Amino acid sequence: MIDTHAHIYDPQFDADRSEMIDRAKAAGIQKIYMPNCDSGTIASMLEMADTHPDYCIPMMGVHPCYIKENFEEELNIAKEWLAKRSFAAVGEIGLDYYWDKTFVQEQKMALSRQMSWALEQNLPVVIHTRDAMRDTIDLVKPFAQKGLQGVFHCFSGSREIAREITQMGFYLGIGGVLTYPKAGLKELAKELPLEWIILETDAPYLTPVPFRGKRNEPAYIPYIAQLLADIREMQMDELVAITNNNSSKLFGS
Ligand SMILES: [Zn+2]
Repeated sequence: MIDTHAHIYDPQFDADRSEMIDRAKAAGIQKIYMPNCDSGTIASMLEMADTHPDYCIPMMGVHPCYIKENFEEELNIAKEWLAKRSFAAVGEIGLDYYWDKTFVQEQKMALSRQMSWALEQNLPVVIHTRDAMRDTIDLVKPFAQKGLQGVFHCFSGSREIAREITQMGFYLGIGGVLTYPKAGLKELAKELPLEWIILETDAPYLTPVPFRGKRNEPAYIPYIAQLLADIREMQMDELVAITNNNSSKLFGS
């Protein structure tokens, strides 16, 4: 299994980071993709990547919640890193209107700019969108038409939105929200196209049931995979083979 989205460099793992990696390996996790947040997370993320090469894979980008007055500076730092080291994707990038709408225009500029880097460097993008789905799709679509690929991480939307995303050639990242009874994602997951689904934890956030309320970690991917397999009335092995293949196609490894 592959965890396509985990912030395992987060200070919440400071006390037991290597045990957390051991638990992921014991749970059958073969690879962990790490989305960046801003310049403040790069050093700890790259330390993970260097400590666990080919296992903890870094991305580079500026998360929309970190787009503030100094966003040009932040973008420059991310761009410099993209030029000097290999990354699996540009991410995570996107729009977030839930926490703060002060910098909506800057968020949009930053998203477009980072998508153009991804196109130039032939990298996929990892999209974060919260309370901003329409604007996000409208911004992504012209890039998708030029060949940009990526994933809408932590997908939870309607059937129509899922269709719109997959028709752009973008994947749907499914994680702990699937296990939340009130989220309504279980019903929709019955009919989402499996060839467009990848699995993620978004650790340390969005912990799946039965660990909800605690810190999330990559070792919990099997709970998401098993639930999705049950919903689809298929074997977990079969589901994992499909989602792993999707992840390999997206990230090119
Ligand atoms: Zn994230």
